[in-house]
Amino acid sequence: MSVVGATRVKGLSCGNPQVPFDVKSIRTAVVILSLLFLTAVAVSVFLLSLREHKELYSRYVQSDLRALSENMSNDLVDILNQQDSAFELKRYLLSLDPYKNIRIAAVYDPDWNQLDLYHGQAGLREGDAVLAVVSRSLQSLGEGIHPVEGDLVAVRSIGDPAYRLGYLVIIDDFEGPIAASTQKLITRLLPPITLIMILLAAAFYLLGNKWLAPLTRLSDFVEEVSRTKNYALQIPHGGRFEVQRLSNNIHAMMRVIQEETEVNREYVALLEERKADTEYLANYDSLTGLSNRNRFMTLLAHALEHVESNNQHLAVMYVDLDGFKLVNDSLGHEVGDKLLEMVAQRLVSIVPDEATVSRHGGDEFLVLLRECPPRAKLEQLADLVVIGLMQKYVINTWEVRVSASVGIATTFDSDADTRDLIRNADVAMYTAKSLGKSRYSFFNSTMMDNYQRRVDIANSIDTALAENEFSVYYQEKVKPDGTRVGAEALVRWTSKTLGFVSPAEFIPIAEHSGKVSDITQWVIERVCSDCRHVFSHVPQPFQVSINLSAHDLKKYHLIGFIKGAFIKHEIPRGLIEFEVTEHAYLDNLDVANRFFDDITAMGCRVALDDFGTGYSSLSYLTKIPIDLIKIDKQFVDNIGRSERDDALVITIIEMARRLGMELCAEGVETVEQRQFLTRHGCDIFQGYLFHKPMKLTDYTSLLKQE
Ligand code: C2E
Ligand code: CA
Ligand code: CA
Repeated sequence: MSVVGATRVKGLSCGNPQVPFDVKSIRTAVVILSLLFLTAVAVSVFLLSLREHKELYSRYVQSDLRALSENMSNDLVDILNQQDSAFELKRYLLSLDPYKNIRIAAVYDPDWNQLDLYHGQAGLREGDAVLAVVSRSLQSLGEGIHPVEGDLVAVRSIGDPAYRLGYLVIIDDFEGPIAASTQKLITRLLPPITLIMILLAAAFYLLGNKWLAPLTRLSDFVEEVSRTKNYALQIPHGGRFEVQRLSNNIHAMMRVIQEETEVNREYVALLEERKADTEYLANYDSLTGLSNRNRFMTLLAHALEHVESNNQHLAVMYVDLDGFKLVNDSLGHEVGDKLLEMVAQRLVSIVPDEATVSRHGGDEFLVLLRECPPRAKLEQLADLVVIGLMQKYVINTWEVRVSASVGIATTFDSDADTRDLIRNADVAMYTAKSLGKSRYSFFNSTMMDNYQRRVDIANSIDTALAENEFSVYYQEKVKPDGTRVGAEALVRWTSKTLGFVSPAEFIPIAEHSGKVSDITQWVIERVCSDCRHVFSHVPQPFQVSINLSAHDLKKYHLIGFIKGAFIKHEIPRGLIEFEVTEHAYLDNLDVANRFFDDITAMGCRVALDDFGTGYSSLSYLTKIPIDLIKIDKQFVDNIGRSERDDALVITIIEMARRLGMELCAEGVETVEQRQFLTRHGCDIFQGYLFHKPMKLTDYTSLLKQE
């Protein structure tokens, strides 16, 4: 591989001021630097040796010349002392012939008159000034060796200074031989130096290659990894020292990255999965697989836009199951869930294919009919839904039955938006429910007035509590002989905005809007404080019944609240009785049992209100801690109407007696009813025949009369 080929040496690079050469690899840089270094070393060694050589040579030539001139001046003493010395002198000077570098040798008498002149082999240079210089200034030069214009001039006196016979002058060519000798030296030195440099450069190159090539491979490798993002690639082997460490580190880093990448990949896959799940959950109901409320709203909004722009109409059906809660509570959530799934499937199979069915929440379903069918067809479909959903469901070994109440709203009713439309259908469904369930109702504007009143009532309850708009009335309960038993506390509400509102109206609404427990707490607090007030006026102990709603039984903190109120108002044990409807109790059997266990432990009695209105099975009566049964007013009303009605009342009284429970008949309005009930062993009476519910002051004066 050619060093030059692999490198681009461009002089100063303008791109990166820190790197003077645009060199792409360390290897090339190292080779170039070492070559530069070697060249500098070689050149300076070479120059030094030249200088040394010149100096040595000069010293040698000078001492040679000094010795020659000294010898000659000694020899010349004898020659010049001879009589006829001229010939001898010439002959003697000719003995200088072997000295190749001598230009001239001259002998002078003591007065610097030239006696003889010898021209040596070196000869005189063209226009040589030396002789002129020499002859001009010989006297001033003095004895010794003098460099003059590239020559060496030796001046020597002949004979003893006291009897000086003359002077010897030798001019020796100095530069010519030194140049020749330097030339020779250069030609001798240059080849080995060049050779050494080439060898060293090659060695540097090879070593650089050996040690740094792995670095290049490593860099190529990293480049490939970053390009392909393949962290499983095998790292190239080779390299030593730091390169090896670097390669090991990169290897380790790659493993870590690979593992992390693997983890990341799994994580991303998981996230994708979750995203899909979340999207599904955001749009579909996980239990039934139907569209959820969210998706239904979007679809409905689109459908509304469509019908508006095409001058068409659509319909929405609100389907709510009746009695689903009972299934859920009595047969368990698993059966409840299965039932919802089956209802969903059945509903989908009943409605037209192009309709969208969604689960709105709990046991509520919505059906979107994008093209509103004629009224007769819609009624037919609603009938199919009501009848279809009523058919039995077989779940595990159970045969389960539920019914459905259906509300229907269409865009004919008003220019409704999505919310209004669903609300209208809801209002219609609510009407269907209040008309006796298991039926359908079409929305109309008068329903909206009822709905608005319900909304107003629900919205006014908080203010009513805060501003003490509620009060408690007491309705006396008596024994057959007329002795007092106690009273039932009945809440009353005279609203500043709505006027008098019956509890029969606002209690269900408060239950529906989750506010009934606030009312219950208010009543408990008021009854307890009233009791304390009454005690101070009447000596006779008596009982007060407080009504609880189904929602209260789930509020376990209510137990704590009741205890607190009892302590605060020093209520004796056995004074307070709690009434709960058969429905409220049995719809939450486990919760209710736990609640009433705690209530009875506090010395309170428990009464089962509105008995006989709900459940066909009576076996539960042996399993719940009940002190008193309140036979519902509808049975009392029916007394004397038929033998069967009478028989029913007699059976209930008999049953209570056998189970060791007291029996109270409520809504007793006539003497006949009273006589009949007394005859058959009813323990307690409550009704307008005896007393209407009354204010505390009236009730207190009634008690005082006794
Ligand atoms: P309920 O618990 O069955 O209470 C008996 C209802 O029958 C009371 O109506 C009472 O005034 C009425 N009544 C009593 N004797 C006669 C009678 O001879 N003839 C007729 N026609 N009615 C009679 P009210 O006070 O309007 O209460 C209605 C329902 O409201 C109550 O039925 C109860 O379910 C609920 N309620 C009343 N007060 C409270 C309360 O403080 N808390 C809770 N949760 N519910 C209450
Ligand atoms: Ca009651
Ligand atoms: Ca009742």
